[in-house]
Amino acid sequence: MELGQKLEILAAGARYDASCASSGSSRNAGAAGGLGSSTPAGVCHSFAGDGRCVSLLKLLYSNVCRYDCAYCLNRASNEAERCSFTAEELVRLTMSFYRRNYVEGLFLSSGVFSDPDIVMERLVEVARLLREREGFGGYIHLKAIPGCGEKLLRRAGLYADRLSANIELPTADSLARLAPDKSGAEILGAMRFIGDSCAEERADRGRIASTPRFAPAGQSTQLVVGASPEDDGRILGLAEGLYRRYGLRRVYYSAFVPVLPDPRLPGGAPPLLREHRLYQADWLLRFYGFRADELLDAAGPRLPADLDPKAAWALAHPAFFPVELSRAELPALLRVPGLGATSARRILATRRAGRLRAEDLPRMGLVMKRAKWFLSLYGRRLAEAPDQASLRALVADRPELAGAGADPAAAPAAEAEYAMRDLEAATPGLGPQAPGTRAKAAAAGTEGRPSGAPAGTASGGDRAAGAAAGGSARARDQLELAFP
Ligand code: SF4
Repeated sequence: MELGQKLEILAAGARYDASCASSGSSRNAGAAGGLGSSTPAGVCHSFAGDGRCVSLLKLLYSNVCRYDCAYCLNRASNEAERCSFTAEELVRLTMSFYRRNYVEGLFLSSGVFSDPDIVMERLVEVARLLREREGFGGYIHLKAIPGCGEKLLRRAGLYADRLSANIELPTADSLARLAPDKSGAEILGAMRFIGDSCAEERADRGRIASTPRFAPAGQSTQLVVGASPEDDGRILGLAEGLYRRYGLRRVYYSAFVPVLPDPRLPGGAPPLLREHRLYQADWLLRFYGFRADELLDAAGPRLPADLDPKAAWALAHPAFFPVELSRAELPALLRVPGLGATSARRILATRRAGRLRAEDLPRMGLVMKRAKWFLSLYGRRLAEAPDQASLRALVADRPELAGAGADPAAAPAAEAEYAMRDLEAATPGLGPQAPGTRAKAAAAGTEGRPSGAPAGTASGGDRAAGAAAGGSARARDQLELAFP
């Protein structure tokens, strides 16, 4: 088969994998004769209109797969045209695309065409040739094939900037139903090994500067949203557990695309707005000190369609507001709808320099359109809050969708257990956490942990802590996740 034809088939086969945004790496070929750097040109954050990264040459090594995941174009039972690259072909393609400035790096995944060790070995060989023979310093993201040996994962991490093992589905039940050949144990085992290796490398680097880098951009994973019945609470609870336990850099949410008919799958795709709300909530988990159970307690089992998750939390916690601008700490400011991290830090910086005045606020670039309903200055509200229904309409970014977020088929919150526990319960040796891993995670610093607050704590000062302390069964589950 012609190389161009393979390229067409194997690029199409990879397009539904969303776990490929490149970030967090600063590799540079450096030495004379080398080529490429993973940082310049801003391509690390280039995304297509649908939110997927387009800056990498995104390919499958092979679309031949032994597995039969219901939601996947490449599944064994689909009569698609099959082909595979050779390592040399992939190296040639990557180098020529890079030289023409088409891409800034390579994202390489593969169908499971053979034993996981053999598949992983092929992916590692491509990365090795690029780094060692071609002197390629651009970004490389390799898929970790669950079930492969740890030695191969270690080698992969030494060549790649990022590794990702896709968990795909939020519970062991859904995995067994829709991806029966996959094993939660193997997927989480790969994540744990990668997370531990990243943490060890960072710890060693603190003592020995020449320690070889291991996946400097960390690891990510992808969750398919809407192919299985789990609600947003389960999905976010799992994501939070993955960030805290395995130090993931990113969880990507990919709205299910019905590419093949299958009685186990829903007939249609979920609204892309659901994916968008999950990304917003994920951002709050990582950078704003929120916990998954808080966001979902406020919104019910599904995030609301009309409001962003922070506004939904604010409306459900009127006692937390107004937040006093003259003395509130960063965690409380971060909970104000309409105030971002930059604005909150500007407020703190201005306060350090002198007394904060109302006329300073516009000059500081703060956008008060939504925030004013939730703030006070020296005891006076910036705007008198109207009744709840009117306030909801004022702070909603999609007011026409009010009431559209609830899913009557979703399980009641009190009955929901977090997906991570399902997976680990079905996975001997993975839960509770193996001795020593928690210490390593602590040594790993704050990767994957919301900034501005220690992991596992509510960050909004006393009142936020009070809200957390009033926790439900979900909250307790979440704490068990964070501190097993
Ligand atoms: S393992 Fe499953 S998701 Fe991956 S390529 Fe094969 S069928 Fe698709």
